[in-house]
Amino acid sequence: MAAIRRHTSTHQALGYGAVFTAVVVTALLGWGLEVWFGLRSSYLLFMVPVVAAAAFGGVGAGLCAALLGLLASLMFSDGRILPGDGLLEPISYLVASGGVIFVGSQIGSLRKRALASESGAEQRAQDAARVARELSLLIDGATEYAIYMLDPQGRVMIWNTGAERLKGWAEAEAIGLDLTTFYPEDARLAGKPKADLDRARSEGWFEEEDWRLRKDGSEFLAHVSIRALIDPSGDLQGFAKVLRDITGQRASKQALEAGASHLRSILETVPDAMVVIDQGGKILSFSAAAERLFGHPEEAVLGLDVNCLMPEPDQGRHVGYLERYVRTGVPHIIGTGRKVLGLKRDGTTFPMELSVGEAAGAGQRVFTGFVRDLTASQRTQARVEELQAELIHVARVSGMGAMASTLAHELNQPITAVTNYVEAVRDLLAEPDPDDLPMIREALVDAAGQALRAGHIVRRLRDFVARGEVDKSVEDVEGLVREATALGMIGRENSANVAFSLEPAGVAVLVDRIQIQQVLINLMRNAVEAMADQSDRRLWLSSQREAGGFVRISVSDNGPGVAETVSDRLFTAFVSTKPDGMGLGLSICRTIVEANGGRIWFEPRPGGGAQFHLTLLQTDHGAGDGV
Ligand code: ADP
Repeated sequence: MAAIRRHTSTHQALGYGAVFTAVVVTALLGWGLEVWFGLRSSYLLFMVPVVAAAAFGGVGAGLCAALLGLLASLMFSDGRILPGDGLLEPISYLVASGGVIFVGSQIGSLRKRALASESGAEQRAQDAARVARELSLLIDGATEYAIYMLDPQGRVMIWNTGAERLKGWAEAEAIGLDLTTFYPEDARLAGKPKADLDRARSEGWFEEEDWRLRKDGSEFLAHVSIRALIDPSGDLQGFAKVLRDITGQRASKQALEAGASHLRSILETVPDAMVVIDQGGKILSFSAAAERLFGHPEEAVLGLDVNCLMPEPDQGRHVGYLERYVRTGVPHIIGTGRKVLGLKRDGTTFPMELSVGEAAGAGQRVFTGFVRDLTASQRTQARVEELQAELIHVARVSGMGAMASTLAHELNQPITAVTNYVEAVRDLLAEPDPDDLPMIREALVDAAGQALRAGHIVRRLRDFVARGEVDKSVEDVEGLVREATALGMIGRENSANVAFSLEPAGVAVLVDRIQIQQVLINLMRNAVEAMADQSDRRLWLSSQREAGGFVRISVSDNGPGVAETVSDRLFTAFVSTKPDGMGLGLSICRTIVEANGGRIWFEPRPGGGAQFHLTLLQTDHGAGDGV
């Protein structure tokens, strides 16, 4: 602004200088021409600089020139200004100058306005050219978009770089092309190009997704928008078209949709219920199987805390479980399966196996729980256990059949002894003699001892065949093994040479005695049967402490060893090499040992034969503590 003001004042000073010079030149000219013109003519002469000053310098310069001219004229008249007609000339000069100044100033302002409008037009033209350049840069910069303009008849007028790239026609080729060129043949035949322009004209603007052609003849799915360009007077100037290739986008959208519906169909059909929660425990998704299992419709539980699906104490603790995991990152259930209780809508609970997976994406962590209803499988398991218990019992009773004759023989001994003692006492009492009393007392004591022995045998047998629940008690390993051997070898005393190695003494285990004895008897019977055809038959019964608080009991023989055909399936039911074998013995043994908290396995005996090992839980107060 200051520069402009400075420029203006310099300009004015120059102007006034020019006025002054013009007046001086005119005065000199007038003085020179005085010979030809009279004094009067000098005023007329000064009209020239006045006109020039007024026209080029404006009112100020004109007045200045007029006054200077007046002064100079007075000088020429040598001070002879007479009142009366002497004043007429200068006054006429001043009036004429005033008129000239007014007209000149009008001409000046007109000239200025013309100049100003001329320079404004030039500025506007420059601005327009700059905007056009920027616009075309912008349009060409949008390379993902084909942007082009059609004339009212549908011929290309403007074609951007994006259109070249997308459609394949260079700008020079495209200009003048009819828009039908860009439509596939069927759309062209159906008159779609014209219909599209008509629609844009009537609606002003519309967009759609449709197929278009490239120069090479290939088709692509385009998102097209067409706008009719109408000028303020309502005339159609043409159409602006913006077009984007969405083939890839549509394909990935379709792939995503296909993937999602595939996943949905899997989740609808898998028997496992699926529940997805966020890291705050809010339910995000609830599968059809989950609806069936828990009895809640999905819309009723979405957004609720997942603990509504669990009974106490998990219900109250679940928030804490989640918080702990999010804080520490240490998983407890994630990645593994766990048997827990679920809570149905009707308030009943059911056993379920829960596996939880974790997924993180888009800044949020979600957990997916797969729930398997164990109600049926637990019922089946309970039934299997029931049947197995039945089977074990039957096996024992049938084992009793084999033992019966020998047992009768064993019972016979004490009963015969009791009979003999009682008969002897009866004979002695037939003729009572006080001297016989000590003998009678001794006979009765022996009879009572034999009766107790018989009672003990009967009780042992009754216990053995009695059916009962797993009834654990603390049992001394040595006593347990020796008693089992005595029972198992009844009637087979000569079928094998039995050796014990039960170390250390006093080790106790927590087991169901009857069941473990049945296992040992079974193993001994198998060993004896395997060795039946050989003359040197040896049976070893040993025990030793194992790491982890277990005691290992082994039954080994020097028989032929287990046949290879069955060695890897020994503990499976109905696996037998015997013509009349049921193949149930070892599978029952395994069930029993596992129910007692141990395990059973087989290995060939070094030097020939078979060895069966079983482990049992050692009790705390056993002598062998500290392993
Ligand atoms: P079963 O005695 O009715 O065949 P088991 O389950 O008790 O059923 O035994 C399965 C099979 O294991 C037997 O048929 C036999 O082939 C093999 N077996 C078991 N114990 C021994 C052993 N001590 N020596 C050799 N083979 C054995």
